[in-house]
Amino acid sequence: MHHETIAAISTPAGIGAVGMVRLSGADAIAVAARVFQPHDPKIKLEGMRGYRGVLGKVCDADGPVDEVVAFIYRGPRSYTGEDVVELCCHGGSYAVRQVLRLCLDAGARPALAGEFTKCAFLNGKMDLTGAEAVMDLVSAQGRGAMRAAFAAREGALAGEIAALVEDLTGHCAHIAAWTDYPEEDLMPVDEAELAQSLENILNRMRVLLAGYDKGRLLREGINAAIVGRPNVGKSTLMNLLTGQERSIVTPEPGTTRDVIQEKITLADLTLNLSDTAGIREALDAAEQEGVLRSLRALESADLILAVFDGSQPLQENDRDLLPHLTDKNVIAVINKADLPSMIEEDKLRESLFCHVEFSAKTGKGREVLEKAILAALELENIDPAGAIIANERQRLCLNSAAENAEEARAALNDGITLDAVCVCLDSALEDLLTLTGQRAGEAIVDEVFTRFCVGK
Ligand code: GDP
Repeated sequence: MHHETIAAISTPAGIGAVGMVRLSGADAIAVAARVFQPHDPKIKLEGMRGYRGVLGKVCDADGPVDEVVAFIYRGPRSYTGEDVVELCCHGGSYAVRQVLRLCLDAGARPALAGEFTKCAFLNGKMDLTGAEAVMDLVSAQGRGAMRAAFAAREGALAGEIAALVEDLTGHCAHIAAWTDYPEEDLMPVDEAELAQSLENILNRMRVLLAGYDKGRLLREGINAAIVGRPNVGKSTLMNLLTGQERSIVTPEPGTTRDVIQEKITLADLTLNLSDTAGIREALDAAEQEGVLRSLRALESADLILAVFDGSQPLQENDRDLLPHLTDKNVIAVINKADLPSMIEEDKLRESLFCHVEFSAKTGKGREVLEKAILAALELENIDPAGAIIANERQRLCLNSAAENAEEARAALNDGITLDAVCVCLDSALEDLLTLTGQRAGEAIVDEVFTRFCVGK
């Protein structure tokens, strides 16, 4: 429990309907009562039960500052686990700043970045993965990312890690008891059984680690580049997918000179789409720069939509594109399917595996394209509500745990003493407890919360 009461503005800067100042700490209600008076003089903030709100006003020495609704949450049944008051003002920046200043004058101190959530963590309201998920909820841009963050907030990852911790602890305890107290009448450690259980633990860790990259795609969105020679319909495809006229569409080749980027939502996923300039021999410096940027977008893309004009035979600059696409996640979009097909599809199939017939003009093939995108990224079966590693910190902890578990298994296989096996398992355990924050040092905890915004 904090000795001090902290306060911060929890809503973004700028004009909005509502602006909120949040207080947390043992004196949160007393501090709020010094600045806020309910309209109904019979009501006293200190006497209110939790989960209640009351309308009133905040005044300074010169008179009323704003009409405010005060919400009371009594610890431990609050976000932070302590008493919390939320003062909801009109959302102009002056009122909110003035209410915060009055709270600070009345005895609160300014909250640090992420300090409310850090309190929640320190008071056992959530583990470190849950706290990190709060940040991911705030920054989620699509439904997939939101669902993944929500599941983590509700403990999907924490639950899976807790199960691993329980198994490892069981083994450590058993081995330690067996080796330390040989005179006791304990069940001997069955080494074959232990080896099998370690294999199972390792597999579960590997599944989590393997899901990391897909989790990243869910969270951060998929960087998808639309490439193709000029005039195949890249801009028309981009406009169809984004639902707006952003890229310039003309019958003249080479009109899109720069890389145009848009975020779109497709099957619960966010796609950061880049419509690139046509990759061809550039006629001038501006176009040359455009071509260079296209090649860069292509290099860093998680997915490439390579567009071809199905109404024409393959041209030289279609073929020139193919070497840039090897070993990449590519969907060949055979566009202009509303016109008679003239393209030599069999030639394309030699180098590009996945084909979708499409018409950017009519939208025909859109559903097939959506399915192809999920399949190309192997995302059809990912469950955003499952246990997903959400960031590099978590991945490093789990990776180290897996390495230690692997070492334990190797020690067991090599017939090294059970003591040594136990040491490795202990290290794996330590890694997992660092992941959840149960045994994370202050520096790690601080590092996690400095990524937060003030007021969260
Ligand atoms: P980009 O240079 O690859 O970006 O190509 P644009 O999107 O500018 O399109 C070039 C021309 O092809 C324009 O005249 C478009 O209207 C036309 N076009 C694009 N997609 C289709 C399609 O699916 N069917 C037909 N018939 N024309 C298309």
